[in-house]
Amino acid sequence: MQSTSTRERILAPLYPLIWWIALSVFLAREYRPLTIPDWVVIYSLAGILILSERFYVPVTEQESLNLETIYLIGFSFVYPINDVGWAALIYAVITSLRYYRTRWHVQLMNGFTFALSVIAAHYAASLLVLRPIDNVLPQVVTVLLFAVVYFGVNVLSLWGHLFFVFDGRGSLATIREGITLRSVIVYAIEILIGLLLSLALRNAGLAGALLFTGLLLLAAYSYRDYFQMAKHFRELSIRDELTGLYNHRWIQTFMDELVGQKQPFALLMLDIDHFRRYNDAWGHVRGDDALKEIAQVLDERRIADEEVARYSGEEFAIALRGYSLEQAQVHAENVRRAVEDAKIDGVEMLPGKRLTVSIGVAHFPSMAENKTDLLMMVDDALYKGKFSGRNKVSIYTSVLDEMKRNLALTDDDEELFRTIKVFLTFLNTKDRYTYAHTERDVRYVESLAVRVGIGEEDLRYLRFGAFLHDIGKVEIPIEVLTKRGPLSKTEWDIMKSHVELGVNIVKPIAALAPSLPIIRHHHERFGGGGYPDGIAGEDIPLSARILTIADSFDAMTTSRPYQRKRSMEEAFAELRDCAGTQFDPDLVEPFIDMVREIGLLDAEEGDDSKGNDHITG
Ligand code: GH3
Ligand code: MG
Ligand code: MG
Repeated sequence: MQSTSTRERILAPLYPLIWWIALSVFLAREYRPLTIPDWVVIYSLAGILILSERFYVPVTEQESLNLETIYLIGFSFVYPINDVGWAALIYAVITSLRYYRTRWHVQLMNGFTFALSVIAAHYAASLLVLRPIDNVLPQVVTVLLFAVVYFGVNVLSLWGHLFFVFDGRGSLATIREGITLRSVIVYAIEILIGLLLSLALRNAGLAGALLFTGLLLLAAYSYRDYFQMAKHFRELSIRDELTGLYNHRWIQTFMDELVGQKQPFALLMLDIDHFRRYNDAWGHVRGDDALKEIAQVLDERRIADEEVARYSGEEFAIALRGYSLEQAQVHAENVRRAVEDAKIDGVEMLPGKRLTVSIGVAHFPSMAENKTDLLMMVDDALYKGKFSGRNKVSIYTSVLDEMKRNLALTDDDEELFRTIKVFLTFLNTKDRYTYAHTERDVRYVESLAVRVGIGEEDLRYLRFGAFLHDIGKVEIPIEVLTKRGPLSKTEWDIMKSHVELGVNIVKPIAALAPSLPIIRHHHERFGGGGYPDGIAGEDIPLSARILTIADSFDAMTTSRPYQRKRSMEEAFAELRDCAGTQFDPDLVEPFIDMVREIGLLDAEEGDDSKGNDHITG
């Protein structure tokens, strides 16, 4: 329950008083001189109750048997009910002393509640059979009535506690939550075991109680082992061995649950920057130590409703239940900074002399309707962060969504757009290089188009063309797409087919018809001899000529698996060399001027030229 308020501090000890008075009234009313056999029963029962307080008999992983209930029921079926009442009173007082520092009143309340529940149930049951249950096995209806009344008084007491001590707000809801099918079944088991005890008592007296208790404790002992084992295995199955965080399986299930319940949450995906280098330099053992330290940083600064998992090798996933995108972004930024500030040995050899993470952020349900889309988006965001310098928090955005705002789209078109988006995301997972490259192309193309005075309408389609020009690569086999060495003739032919494949993918969207020539002709050469049609000069649409130059320039100035990255000036020289053969000579100088103005769009700010890093899957 919540932290202790003044109200709670004062009222909590008062509450058992109500029950104590009720119990006293009963005992006084029913009072008769107690005989020696009465006292034997009272002390035996009180003794067993006090003893059973120390034992825990699990029945499921969450629930355990309430031994007090079992004994009170068993005794109440056989011995005079006021004996049972006295024993419960003694039990409540003595066990509450054990908790004299903190929870004594709770213990007292529980003891009194049990006592009054069983007394009330006893009277209800005896009303029905007209005479107290004696030597016949209690009839089904009697037992049912007994069970219902016992349960009812217990619940009533709990509800009274919530209502009286705590503000009462939500008390019904709390109780409703507590009464699950499982808890009712466990309660039924208690009643049945109580009946069993009554049989033992009736046939063997208190010796029967001893026998029964011995059996129960043995069962408790073996069950505890069993449940500890079950718990151990469950932990193993949901924890990551190295870091102790939740594992991939757990977070997947957790997200499935949240999506199933339509509970909003933000997902953060973290990937350590340049971790391969750390491993290469220090070996995997120290790499693993670093992973543990990062896991610890993440775990230590966990906030409410945050779950952290090791998603894969050096990637971590964080789910923030109930958080908005903005809140998640702030938190992600804190996490990023915390990792950056963590003191980890051996980071001198990393680019920033620190171990850092890039973080992608996406949100359910505002961005994605299901888990798969959400994971794709968060991955997409993460890799955009990787391509724009690392050590960053990146929120998922879709350039495509932005661009299509100005188009009049039918429902069918919307559907097709969604397909294209899936293709793009898929292409991203297949070939990270192409994807980031596309976005730079769009920016070069836009700037050049404005410079050479292309109209608003044409520019819109040019943007789409630039954005989707490589989408056909989604159908190119991955071995060809990411091959490091030179391509064979057959492989080139396959590679070249991406322009026509791209046209086929986009063609069904009528609204994008004006973009098709751009996709089709972006590999034509101004002097002829390009593909797929080999057309030349002004026959190639202006938009396609613009894209060709931007596309080639970006390819030259960023690292690719199969070629060295050139400097800006080297690339300018190359453009000039090929003016008239490959590129439209009228576009080369405006393009160079434009790049000088907006600056080189680099794949990585001030970073490696190794290139291979870009195509890790
Ligand atoms: P980037 O900044 O692009 O993420 O670069 P990176 O080198 O971190 O590349 P990537 O994310 O693909 O990381 C893959 C490397 O992470 C490969 C391996 O060296 C390291 N790694 C993955 N899993 C483990 C692991 O369980 N233990 C250790 N020590 N290293 C791992
Ligand atoms: Mg990785
Ligand atoms: Mg990494």
